[in-house]
Amino acid sequence: MAKSYADLLREAREQIPEVTPAAADGLRDGRGALIVDVREDEEWDAGHVPGAAHISKSYIEQRIEDAAPGRDRPIVLYCAGGVRSLFAAQTLAAMGYTDVTSMLGGFQRWKAEGREIAMPVALTSEQKIRYSRHLLMPEVGAEGQAKLLGSKVLLIGAGGLGSSAALYLAAAGVGTIGIIDFDVVDLSNLQRQVIHANDRIGERKTESARRTINALNPDVNVLLHDEMLIAANVERVIAGYDVIVDGTDTFETRYLLNDAAIALRIPVVHASVFRFEGQLTAFVPYEGPCYRCLYPTPPPPEMAPGCSVAGVLGVVPGIMGLLQANEAIKLLLGIGDSLAGRLVLFDALDASFTELRLRRDPDCPVCSDAAVAARAAGTPLAVPAFGADAPFVLGGGLGAGAVAGGGA
Ligand SMILES: [Zn+2]
Repeated sequence: MAKSYADLLREAREQIPEVTPAAADGLRDGRGALIVDVREDEEWDAGHVPGAAHISKSYIEQRIEDAAPGRDRPIVLYCAGGVRSLFAAQTLAAMGYTDVTSMLGGFQRWKAEGREIAMPVALTSEQKIRYSRHLLMPEVGAEGQAKLLGSKVLLIGAGGLGSSAALYLAAAGVGTIGIIDFDVVDLSNLQRQVIHANDRIGERKTESARRTINALNPDVNVLLHDEMLIAANVERVIAGYDVIVDGTDTFETRYLLNDAAIALRIPVVHASVFRFEGQLTAFVPYEGPCYRCLYPTPPPPEMAPGCSVAGVLGVVPGIMGLLQANEAIKLLLGIGDSLAGRLVLFDALDASFTELRLRRDPDCPVCSDAAVAARAAGTPLAVPAFGADAPFVLGGGLGAGAVAGGGA
């Protein structure tokens, strides 16, 4: 016997339980239910339930297994008014999904009840092409790309580390890149500082970097800070940035940056290079150790020769700067395992990477509970003075003699 649309709808209603938007919200938060929007692309783009997966009804059979590999996870389907989702739910039930419901009244009711809506990510057609390799990956996708475009990263130094980090952060579409550097381009920089060019010798590094970045990607808003990072300006310069990429080459600046970034809760992706070696970690405030946990006592200057004294193989800052860009992008997107609490050592001659575990110092004058409380009370704990004659002690399980050079 032929069935009418009304017959099919009645059968679907008998087979598939329906839940209100409030109940769907509760299932997601309480039972980890997967919410699936089965509408078409244009409907999804005009707003959707936050955190929902989007699989239009036409592709539900082919794509549901990627989104929900297990058959027993609760799944709530919704469409615009609650009918298409009922039929899609029947398909999932036929595929063996055991806990499928349909949201009553669909997205219209969700919206009418004043519930939170995720607004569409509006990438221009040019951006869809430029970032197409990111859009193909679910870990980035249009939402991740929009996140990058809305992100602000500060580069400390437009030197060797900053050059490769800046180029790839710009290419990736990090929307705002700040650069602080007070130096000018010198011929001796060009062996590794590839963001600059021969015809810019004598030009400000910040301006030279901005030209290269915008030639690569005009989406990027480049903010220039033509100044030296000092105690009087550090908080003003770094405030508002999401991640800081530290390419500085002096211990003094690193301590200054560390203390301010910990107080403002901004992660710092740190790298340094020395001849054939590089080291890399991420100082994620209160999640892993900070720079002072690692190096409690500043070294006397003669113990920490920079590149201008010790030399550096040009590719080493390039490699380490790229690893910094990788960490920064992961932190911005909230994907992968950050390097908080891990120090990666790179040896260019062996072509080897070594990883060391780092611990937080429970007595750290900057990131310990006592230090946080003291700051809140307006009486910050004292930190060792720079250039103190105490011996340079590497903390956190590092042996003396680990890489301790400059970043430029
Ligand atoms: Zn610390």
